[in-house]
Amino acid sequence: MTGPRHSCGVIGMYCSDDVTSDIFKALRMIQHRGQESAGISVFNGSKVITAKGTGLVSDAIKQTGMQAINGNCGIGHVRYPTSASKSEKNAEPIEVQITHGTIALAHNGAITNYQELKKKYLDTGWSFLTDSDSELISKIIAKHLIQNNDPVKAIRSTMGEIEGAYSLTLLYNNRVFGVRDPYGFRPLCVGWLGNGYILASESVAIDIFEGDLIRDIAPGEVVEITANEIKSHPSSVNYPSAHCMFEWIYFARPDSVIDGREVYDVRKAVGEILASESPADVDLVMPVPDSGRAHALGYSIGSNIRYEEGFMKNRFAERTFILPDQKQREDSVAMKMNPIRSTVNGKRILIVDDSIVRGTTLVKLVKMLRDAGAKEVHVRIGCPPVIAPCYYGVDMKSRDQFIATKYSVNEICRKIGADSLGYISVPGLVKAIGKPENDICLACLNNRYPTNISGETHRFQTTLRNSY
Ligand code: 5GP
Ligand code: MG
Repeated sequence: MTGPRHSCGVIGMYCSDDVTSDIFKALRMIQHRGQESAGISVFNGSKVITAKGTGLVSDAIKQTGMQAINGNCGIGHVRYPTSASKSEKNAEPIEVQITHGTIALAHNGAITNYQELKKKYLDTGWSFLTDSDSELISKIIAKHLIQNNDPVKAIRSTMGEIEGAYSLTLLYNNRVFGVRDPYGFRPLCVGWLGNGYILASESVAIDIFEGDLIRDIAPGEVVEITANEIKSHPSSVNYPSAHCMFEWIYFARPDSVIDGREVYDVRKAVGEILASESPADVDLVMPVPDSGRAHALGYSIGSNIRYEEGFMKNRFAERTFILPDQKQREDSVAMKMNPIRSTVNGKRILIVDDSIVRGTTLVKLVKMLRDAGAKEVHVRIGCPPVIAPCYYGVDMKSRDQFIATKYSVNEICRKIGADSLGYISVPGLVKAIGKPENDICLACLNNRYPTNISGETHRFQTTLRNSY
């Protein structure tokens, strides 16, 4: 499959006071969900005003003068970088003008029938400015709005056309909507701020205002928020959900609560289960910072083996994962991590990371620990082997990039130079998440996809398609 894939962060807000600077603050709380670009759209009393740009929230929005805009409702977006993306053009919110006013849309996820739908609309004479699926969604909503000027109906009709993963916030003139796809792949929750409501990808964006997390938006639900009300338009179809396991394992902040489960708690449970599934006779347990920290702590608790910090991470180093070539990725790991020699020297060490994708990070880290005098280096991983591409918003594209599609666990262990290697099992992961297996998307681990993807196997025998 081709087409854009991105896991991002979205915000929506409606309050009795100005929301512009609060949307800015909320976006900074979900900055980890995307650093490529950021944007805000606010209704200023007469029209929708959008400011967006590349880089971190503070760079992208601060200099635009957006802080001077006053408005009671608006939305915001942070975009996750992928090596191929054209950042400036694809920044969100995407604005579309129609007869009745302006739509601004912020999207987290990936539309799996994007190419098919885009072709269909190109053939009817539409044109597109970007290769972003968010532009397509906003134009389809606009098409339906022009027909009936009823935003809920327009959103529902759009949901009948698009497939895949989408958590959306939508500003339509002075109205704010939140939408979650029928499978609930990507998170979206709603909170009370004392003077209005907030929609957010993660609950940490509610915490900073000392607000209350009210609930998650249900899969397939459309909500409208005002300063004093949440109007719910639930789905009439009851699908099994397919919450992305990678949100808990890697993507979300540990202090967020997603679909009723705190991310930190899940990661710690992963570590404890790993300790029982894959024990080791070692002196110290160490995290690969920052992503493996809670998993390692759980392993230490589960195994009763002492926890120590073995690496210092350079906070200002670039993100390794998205660099375009292997040499750059390897150099970047060295820039990012440095061993603490006094803790490592002469010890049998077990390091815990959240996931192995290509294996780049661990090859480097194991060698670093040996160079720093480690006697043995064992590796444990908080996510089962990644073997299949994600079509729902995580930047893991093709099977040939995954080390686990080419090699067995023993071979990977040899490749990364470790004394032993253990991954958490799929049942262990499901247990740590604490939800029924059928409510979690495990497609990147078991090759079974919750929706129809051409060339891939559906996770159920019977085929479910969106119907509204
Ligand atoms: P590898 O080095 O094996 O290719 O990737 C695994 C490392 O990258 C882990 O330390 C994990 O925390 C991180 N990682 C896994 N998935 C992603 C992702 O989608 N984006 C980014 N930036 N890092 C990731
Ligand atoms: Mg990491």
